[in-house]
Amino acid sequence: MYVETKDGTCRSCGGELEIVDADDATMTVECRGECGDSYQVEPDAFGDGCMTYYPGFLTQREESDDEEGGE
Ligand SMILES: [Zn+2]
Repeated sequence: MYVETKDGTCRSCGGELEIVDADDATMTVECRGECGDSYQVEPDAFGDGCMTYYPGFLTQREESDDEEGGE
């Protein structure tokens, strides 16, 4: 899930960020810009009050998990 550049950009190069992982306390973002850096941020790091990116990423991940089969 990509982060809109108005909400947050790479701390190193200012490039676009993609959320690639999340757990109870952090999200892991990966730079799609020049540096390709990846690092952890707080769930509300993008000023959305944990209302957009964090639950959005978790929902997206749950949906893709479902595709892997199950019941
Ligand atoms: Zn970068």
